[in-house]
Amino acid sequence: MAQEARYDIVIIGTGAGGASLAKRLAPSGMKILILERGDYVPREKENWSSLEVNLKGHYLAKEKWRTKDGEILEPHTNYNVGGNTKFFGAALFRLREVDFGEIQHAGGVSPAWPISYKDLESYYAEAEDLFEVRGERGVDPTEPPATGPYPYPAISHEERLERLSADFSSLGLHPFHTPLGVRLDEQHRRTSRCIRCNTCDGYPCLIHAKSDAEMMCIEPTLQMHDNVTLLTMARVTALKTGVSGREITGVLFEHDGEQVQVSADVVVVSCGAINSAALLLRSANSDHPNGLANRSGAVGRHYMGHTNSVVMALSLCPNPTIFQKTLSVNDFYGASSEWKFPMGHISFVGKLDLDTLRAGAPAIAPGWSLESMAQHSLDFWLTSEDLPDPENRVTINKAGEIVLSYTPNNLEAHKRLKHQLSKMMKNTSCEFHGAGCHQGLFDRNIFIGQQIPLAGVAHQNGTVRFGHDPLTSALDINCKAHDIDNLYVVDGSFFPSSGAVNPGLTIVANALRVGDHLLERMHARKEVPQAMQA
Ligand SMILES: Cc1cc2nc3c(=O)[nH]c(=O)nc-3n(C[C@H](O)[C@H](O)[C@H](O)COP(=O)(O)OP(=O)(O)OC[C@H]3O[C@@H](n4cnc5c(N)ncnc54)[C@H](O)[C@@H]3O)c2cc1C
Ligand code: SF4
Repeated sequence: MAQEARYDIVIIGTGAGGASLAKRLAPSGMKILILERGDYVPREKENWSSLEVNLKGHYLAKEKWRTKDGEILEPHTNYNVGGNTKFFGAALFRLREVDFGEIQHAGGVSPAWPISYKDLESYYAEAEDLFEVRGERGVDPTEPPATGPYPYPAISHEERLERLSADFSSLGLHPFHTPLGVRLDEQHRRTSRCIRCNTCDGYPCLIHAKSDAEMMCIEPTLQMHDNVTLLTMARVTALKTGVSGREITGVLFEHDGEQVQVSADVVVVSCGAINSAALLLRSANSDHPNGLANRSGAVGRHYMGHTNSVVMALSLCPNPTIFQKTLSVNDFYGASSEWKFPMGHISFVGKLDLDTLRAGAPAIAPGWSLESMAQHSLDFWLTSEDLPDPENRVTINKAGEIVLSYTPNNLEAHKRLKHQLSKMMKNTSCEFHGAGCHQGLFDRNIFIGQQIPLAGVAHQNGTVRFGHDPLTSALDINCKAHDIDNLYVVDGSFFPSSGAVNPGLTIVANALRVGDHLLERMHARKEVPQAMQA
């Protein structure tokens, strides 16, 4: 075992949660160690190759998990500096105000959070500043109240999506510009960081123009604060507790082929919802036989990942859009005139190209080739809320592998959301093909809906939920373990329910909130010896 070092804070993981927290804590001057199991994503031409990224899975974690039936699961997740934000579509939504309360869904109840939207509002604003979000307020009918505008104007639609947006408006819907973390300056295209390309959602940005956690948090932190150290290729294998059982006394990790142990006043786990739960479970000891922070038995349970589908609508009009993620529709997010229960959120994925289509291997629509489908498709991303079922869970098998057990729920909502979209498309027309542009195509059954399979864990959350009651939650409202005084979990794990918008911005906002709590806690603790010295 290599020599032990002591820090004020150790943060494990550099994704949306860990990186934002590090950025918040760094100016305090505290000695901070960040441990990341992956390396930097290399800058290479493959970054923007759909063949490499989508077909070959070039950057995916090389790890095998298991399903509850023992089958191999190759997770679509990424272990690298910046975590999954290096690959995310950068749609940066606030949860809706209602998402913080209890919501009755057709498939069951989405429980209330122990904090309210108001508690997080100022942190959402800071998170939007930190990730330089481009958006517009006042159009999305479900938008929660905000104290100020977005830091940058919304990214414009290209012509095909502008037309679709007008079509949706003419149906009485309220399409709006998706809030996005891509650093595009449309007024100054020549000097803009972002060049508005077609390989963004699911790809790392070759020119570092995406607002990912590496670029917005880790890089500036390391440049400005020499009290912060990042160790890459450092996979944490276990946390040790001391004699009281209420304190983490050692963080064990593998680095350069060695087993290393460090300690810290505070240890923050930010490994992503599945790996954070796995680490706590793997750290079981005689004081914590079911895993750390797990008196409630909640650790690993209530896994949520949203019910997501990519739905391809074909129209006779071609779709030459380059950057397609600009449009969203939330008219069916809550109860509507169409149904008394929430259905979910409609937006777009990056434009599907031929290679990506081949990877998804859709059935070829009658009368279409894959090439023509790639040229004409409008590629929707549909998200419905899945509900926190305790049996949907992360466990560790005897071989030490992660086992992900998941039975989808609330599926009627998703089915109806797809049906709404199909109706919306049917009811639009164009000046060249009239109502037949979509209607005829739909009649020939060429909506190809592909529900994301279990390996798609992009929106993972909920496995180490926070709450007031130590008997039903693992973390308190500051995301500190109820059972352990210096252990925090700051990533997507803490969600008690998941809403139906992308989770990234909420993870960042919460990390900033917990950061303020930690600054207060550590400051108070450090003041005492100073005062005593005086
Ligand atoms: C293709 C794709 C598209 C997405 N699009 C969007 C989007 O448009 N909008 C949005 O809001 N969200 C999107 N997401 C989801 C978003 O990226 C995640 O919600 C977010 O990154 C989660 O943050 P996190 O901190 O919980 O975990 P992660 O970002 O996963 O970070 C966890 C980090 O911990 C490290 N780690 C894990 N285990 C260990 C260990 N034992 N020791 C040391 N380090 C460890 C990992 O390597 C990783 O760097 C997308 C995700 C994907 C994959
Ligand atoms: S659209 Fe902009 S941010 Fe996204 S990958 Fe392309 S250049 Fe980078």
